[in-house]
Amino acid sequence: MSKALDLWPDRKAIRQQEKTFTYREFGERVARLARALLAKGVVQGKAISIIAPNVHEFLEAYYACAALGAVLNPINFRLSAREAAFIINDSEAVLLLAHTDFKDTVAGALDDSPLIKGVVWMGQAKRPELEVPAFDYEGLLAAESPEMPPLPDLRSNDLAHLYYTSGTTGRPKGVMLTQGNVTFHALAAIAELKLADRDTWIHVAPLFHLADAWATFALTWVGGAHVLTPYFEPGLVLEAFDKEKITITNLIPTMLNLMVNHPKVGDYDYSSLRAILSGGAPIAPETVRRIVEAFGCDYIQTYGMTETSPYLTVSILKNHLKDLEPQKQLEIVSRTGRAFIGVELKVVRPDGSAIAADNQEVGEIIVKGPIVTPGYWNRPQATEEALRDGWLYTGDLAVIDREGYVNIVDRAKDMIVTGGENVYSTEVEYVLYEHPDVLECAVIGVPDETWGEAVKAVIVTRPDGKPDENEIIEFVKQRLARFKAPKSIDFVREIPKTGSGKLYKKALKDKYWQGKK
Ligand code: ATP
Ligand code: MG
Repeated sequence: MSKALDLWPDRKAIRQQEKTFTYREFGERVARLARALLAKGVVQGKAISIIAPNVHEFLEAYYACAALGAVLNPINFRLSAREAAFIINDSEAVLLLAHTDFKDTVAGALDDSPLIKGVVWMGQAKRPELEVPAFDYEGLLAAESPEMPPLPDLRSNDLAHLYYTSGTTGRPKGVMLTQGNVTFHALAAIAELKLADRDTWIHVAPLFHLADAWATFALTWVGGAHVLTPYFEPGLVLEAFDKEKITITNLIPTMLNLMVNHPKVGDYDYSSLRAILSGGAPIAPETVRRIVEAFGCDYIQTYGMTETSPYLTVSILKNHLKDLEPQKQLEIVSRTGRAFIGVELKVVRPDGSAIAADNQEVGEIIVKGPIVTPGYWNRPQATEEALRDGWLYTGDLAVIDREGYVNIVDRAKDMIVTGGENVYSTEVEYVLYEHPDVLECAVIGVPDETWGEAVKAVIVTRPDGKPDENEIIEFVKQRLARFKAPKSIDFVREIPKTGSGKLYKKALKDKYWQGKK
């Protein structure tokens, strides 16, 4: 950041509702925070946890930790007190930065977090009584000097962040990301996405998740501006695109889907937008078409995971997409992307042998490179399972074409095996999204005596849509092999989402599989 500070001290660095900070102000706040944390014992290598929505203090915490060589452990604010306590303890954090919007979670979690020596509160709501010392964020900053403390000698292998997995396959695991991982990723992203001082990025996806958090560093290094939206609300994000002259951002597909279907999507001027990135989960080609149509900018598809800082592939679709034949559009948008700078990527069979490009055979993506985690915090066995011979096994199934584009077909654990046939849940979802009554959907495998697993669709219809099970099943049968069509449909008002905003298929599946597996 210091370069941005020297080069553009008076340029807008951060905007959050009515608050604006220049780079000078941002730099001074980071320095004051770093000094305050140091005084509380947060030295190089120590972890601190943070529970907060997308507020400027979050960006300040990322930078203050980077300056101290301390390890930031961002926690999903939707977790229960018990889940948060597990992560706080597991990360061995010594201090907690907490927003009062989550005061009950924090108070509950602290009952069970013996290592925490103090809490630093941000936010305006009344603060609960705690057993550990509590401090006011702004109070701490005001008491400190605006000079950065002496910088420690950081090495590439030193730990920078601990992000916890959502724990779909067991206890949450802390993904270790090093200074080298984070730095390489930011530089690669600057090059791949041509990020520059002209850019204004809006942080919509939660900052506790890497889908958005990586941009904290990359955007600052090039002197771009950050706009923060504390919580996702589709109408407000559309308005902010216009009002704040946003040029680029990364959203989760479920968010983009709600935005392009929002009644006010046509009401704003999006001429400042140069690119919309989507990543973190599969996106239906139909949604991509609507994005290009609604925003008239480039569309950038990314694929990544927390374990890889996060981007592994990228594919840039120029905004001419809407002029192409529908079949051509489909071909283009169904390719996930090509390896990100520095990423080595292969698609392999279960025995580890590589599948040749263009061979249409589905295999698992494995990757290598400077953005790959050294492993899970204090989990040698999980690390050994995921990292074999220097390759990270992603658990994602894909085919690869001659140009090196990978097309992800599904997560291995979401693939449905019905009557001996493999059905990729995303393929069925993509077709359902073409149905005019479908607003949101998830396809899962449910237990079935005859078929082993049966394909089930869970659907939210549009406000004016008809929930007609047979008609929708028929619609899929006309477009895909019959065995891929859902055998049944549940119409629901809402599909559960993970804290980062992805469809939470495990929660849907658990309902049907209880006691069966
Ligand atoms: P957990 O590992 O905690 O169970 P998670 O895998 O959802 O949760 P993340 O690291 O946030 O945690 O997500 C990475 C996964 O998201 C990838 O392994 C992949 O399955 C999916 N994903 C990300 N981007 C894409 C994309 N563009 N297309 C399809 N799937 C994607
Ligand atoms: Mg994962």
